[in-house]
Order: sequence, then structure tokens, then C-alpha cells
Amino acid sequence: MSIKLGDFIKSIISAVVLLFGIPFLTREWFCKNKVAVLLYHDVQPEIFAKHTDYLSRHFNIISLDLLVTSIHNKDFSNIPPKSVVITIDDGHAGNIALLPIIMRYDISPTIYVCTQIINTHRHFWFRIPTLSKKEKEHLKRLPNAERLTHLSQTSNFEPEKEYEDRQALSLNEMKQMMPYVDIQPHTQFHPILPNCTETECKQEILGSKIDLERHLSIECHHFSYPNGDYTEREIEIVKAAGFCSARTVDIGWNRSDISPYQMKTIPISDDAGLIRFRAELTGIPQRIVKWVNTILWRITI
Ligand SMILES: [Zn+2]
Repeated sequence: MSIKLGDFIKSIISAVVLLFGIPFLTREWFCKNKVAVLLYHDVQPEIFAKHTDYLSRHFNIISLDLLVTSIHNKDFSNIPPKSVVITIDDGHAGNIALLPIIMRYDISPTIYVCTQIINTHRHFWFRIPTLSKKEKEHLKRLPNAERLTHLSQTSNFEPEKEYEDRQALSLNEMKQMMPYVDIQPHTQFHPILPNCTETECKQEILGSKIDLERHLSIECHHFSYPNGDYTEREIEIVKAAGFCSARTVDIGWNRSDISPYQMKTIPISDDAGLIRFRAELTGIPQRIVKWVNTILWRITI
């Protein structure tokens, strides 16, 4: 399915969700005592400002630390009703433009960064412009070594190659953000962890913690799985590396009995207008599009 068709489906579903008052019912009733962990990637500041303004008027924006502590205690009594956490994945260079908004609304989001891509001119493999959505989905299913060989042969892509333009945050930008933003690891190079060997997986998880702690002189406690993919093996490696939490992209709001290593997410489209954003906060459009995508993938392979 093309991105445009996905967007069209999301717009139609969003309109229907709003028409039935589902965002209001979700906020005030179904999920009043659950916490949404929102997920952005490379959102533009104008859009992020509109979303943050809406959230600040209708929800309580809390830190990931507060949520994780409450999950470990299995007690949400310190969490205000209608709470959300804001997370941003990968460490895209454009994230620095969000800093004035983050400061204005005092929201302390968490940015999960790829620690061997930040502060370099290396590129994210999933941003290769010639890769179609279908090719990317295919690559996400290959063993890690096969994916890298394919990228090298078809796109001349090498994970450690330094390109002309910079796609990720620089060290200086991260240091500017640090007083207002929680910066945490998201592996070193963004592989699909279950497709890695055990050695690769340990290196990507533990290595990213060591990298970031060294870069920023901080202690890292939280991790997010690239593409949200994980198995029991990844959970055990994340725990053994000393992380307190890990965020998936399993769609949903979090209750106090959720595993801290399988925290659910509400992915938000980086380009969502306010109508779609309000609908996406329910998680319904994303579930339907994911379901349609899975069916189409099975039909076309
Ligand atoms: Zn990612």
C-alpha cells in the first residue's frame, strides 16, 4: 500500500472517530487512568507546537521517569489522570528545532537516539531515498547480515560511511537539549534486533548504553526497540544491560500492570493535522492501518 493510500485511510477513519466523540470518551473515560506514550520521529516544529498546545490544554504531560517508576511500583497514584509521555525516536537532526517548544511548554520529552549515528555524518538505513516502502518492509524481515549486504549492493549504503549531509543530532545540539530533554539509547545503528545474531544484539543494546553514557556523561535507564521489534531474548538482554524500561511500538495505553520492558505506544504521524492527531490519540486509526498493511503484505508476497 502506498503512503498516500495509508494517509487517505487514516483521514477517513479519523473523521469517523471524531464524529462519534471517541477522542473525548477515550480521554475522559476509557483511558482516564492509563498513560499514553506518544511516539514521534522527525516532526516539524509547527506541527509539534500545535500538538503540544492541544495536549497541554487537555492532558497532563509527564516524564518517562515518573511513568517507569510508577510501573515498577505497580502504583499510578502519583500520576495525574489523563497523562501522556512524549517520546521521539532515532535522534533526527531536525529535532533540535523542537527545543523552543519543549522549553515553552516545559514538557521534558524523551529522545531515543542511535548512538553510532548521532554526532556523525553516517546515515539512517531506512532514510535511503531510493528504497520503496515495500522494499523497506522486505528488508525488515531479512537476517541482519543479509539486509546489510542487500543495502550495500543495491544502494551503495554502508553503516559506517560518512556522507556529505548530517541526518542525526550533533553532540553540541544534544548538549543544548539536555537540560530540557531526556536522551536515551535506541541501539547503535537501528537494526531489527530479532534478526540479529545474539552477539550483534548484545553489542547494539549494551554498546548503545555505553556510547551514550560516554558521549553525554549521564546514566541511561530507558531503551526503545528499533521498529518496535523484540522477543524474549531482547527483553533479557535489555534487563541484563541494566535498563529499567523499554518501549515497544505495540499500540495501546499503559496500565499500572504493564511490563516495564514492553511499554505500549501511541504512534503519532509526524504530519498529522489536529483532527488526525486527536483521532490518533485513541490508537484506532493506527490499529486499522496496521491491520490493513499486514493483510496486504500477506497477499502480495
Ligand atoms: Zn527508530
